[in-house]
Amino acid sequence: MANRSGAASTSTRENVRRYEHFIAGQWAAPSSGQLFETYNPATGEVLAHLARGDKQDVDKAVEAARMAFESNAWQEMVPVQRGRILFRIAELIRQQKEELATLESLDTGKPISQARADVEVAARYFEFYGGVADKIMGSTIPVMPGALDFTVREPYGVSAQIIPWNYPIQIGARGIAPALAAGNTVVVKPAEEASLTCLEMARIAQEGGLPSGALNVITGYGTEAGAPLASHSGINHLTFTGSVEVGISVMKAAAENIVPVTLELGGKSPNLLFADAEMAKALPAIVRSILQNCGQTCSAGSRLLVEESVHDAVVREVKERFQATRLGHPLEDPDMGPLISARQREAVLGYVELAPQEGARVVTGGVPPEDSRLRKGYYLLPTLLDEVAPSARVFSEEIFGPVLTVTAFSGVEEALKLANATPYGLVAAVWTRDLSRAHYLASKIRAGQVFINSYGAGGGVELPFGGMRRSGFGREKSLEALLNYTQVKNIFVKYS
Ligand code: NAD
Repeated sequence: MANRSGAASTSTRENVRRYEHFIAGQWAAPSSGQLFETYNPATGEVLAHLARGDKQDVDKAVEAARMAFESNAWQEMVPVQRGRILFRIAELIRQQKEELATLESLDTGKPISQARADVEVAARYFEFYGGVADKIMGSTIPVMPGALDFTVREPYGVSAQIIPWNYPIQIGARGIAPALAAGNTVVVKPAEEASLTCLEMARIAQEGGLPSGALNVITGYGTEAGAPLASHSGINHLTFTGSVEVGISVMKAAAENIVPVTLELGGKSPNLLFADAEMAKALPAIVRSILQNCGQTCSAGSRLLVEESVHDAVVREVKERFQATRLGHPLEDPDMGPLISARQREAVLGYVELAPQEGARVVTGGVPPEDSRLRKGYYLLPTLLDEVAPSARVFSEEIFGPVLTVTAFSGVEEALKLANATPYGLVAAVWTRDLSRAHYLASKIRAGQVFINSYGAGGGVELPFGGMRRSGFGREKSLEALLNYTQVKNIFVKYS
């Protein structure tokens, strides 16, 4: 796809792609002239050389976004026309679905069918927000006779968006599409581990008719490119998706410029499984909720809380399902691909080592697969940890790998206490046939999304998604996201 992208020249090695930043509608060389390497997690081989962004590049991208905003070419375009351009971008993404999915799969290590689903979701974001561009409405307020009071929702200006590596095209589109629909212009900093599809999306948006500078992408490391973007005095809004630690630093940086922030951070989401649940539906969904994307999903179902009476049978069944999971090269569409990097696998293995010291039992997994064909990739077998105490670090810390912890409970109140016993609050699911119990728990669980007899990692494009407590604040997806990307102006007119 590199040729089609028009990204700078090809690399010395033919199969290694090379990309520059995308600024003001063009590929732009890094100011420092420096590139960095990114790797294919399935093989450990170099996949691409990317521009190593720094403060100077960020300045250029923010300036381009500022000029695009102030030129009014985008924010004052007739809203329905803005929407049509977003529809066109959705269409172009779908036309290039296979190339984009292949790139995403190579870059992140996710199975190709998951990558295809991600590309489709990215198209859906542009379609969904394309449809609301001309429906961003205010209200009228009955204050007094002889006066008209009304509100309008206006764009902030330049929206800076810093995103992680686990779902680059999906999370990229999740922030870009509503920001653009509302008339903002955007600068995105994708993660250094996986930036390719975000760059391609900027090219596609340009082809789709987006004015130059309305969407800019800067690649590079967090401290070199992310930090200058977060602290830039020229931005008006910041969306950060990533770890709690970096989220805190980004929020502090934005505070210096009084810039509003949306934080989408980590999670340690529980599945609460009661003995009366329909096990044939619950167990496959619970397994999928942790193994999807090799457990590297903020909303992964990483804790299984199971009613004592069915604990042994459930652990046996989950173990069998884990052991039947096919690992393989992402383009061969296995059940599970590799982790994103050697560093990530080390971090996950650190937790697996810790578990027995905290009294937990490793039921299966916890090591890389023996298959010699997978030796060079960052693979890890699905790992099941049983008898995990609420005091254990593996119970409350986000592991971000294919590791499921199991904790038994007795009764609704204990289940609830365990569900709320971590600092996070992103997603939760309750599996039971008892509807009053399900509703009671849904009302008491502190999480931004609760599923009953289902689990959607983040749900669909239409459902508001975001965290409580250390999982962050503000909502992405759905019409709710428009509240993040617009500010209210109140206008009072005295006419008598
Ligand atoms: P990370 O916080 O390390 O990096 C995220 C982004 O921040 C990257 O683009 C990185 O380059 C940048 N960054 C790093 N240091 C920075 C700094 N000092 N200033 C500015 N930017 C900086 O997170 P990650 O490892 O890429 O992703 C994993 C984390 O993201 C997990 O905790 C996961 O739960 C979370 N996540 C949350 C959601 C959600 O929607 N809630 C979605 C996906 C991932």
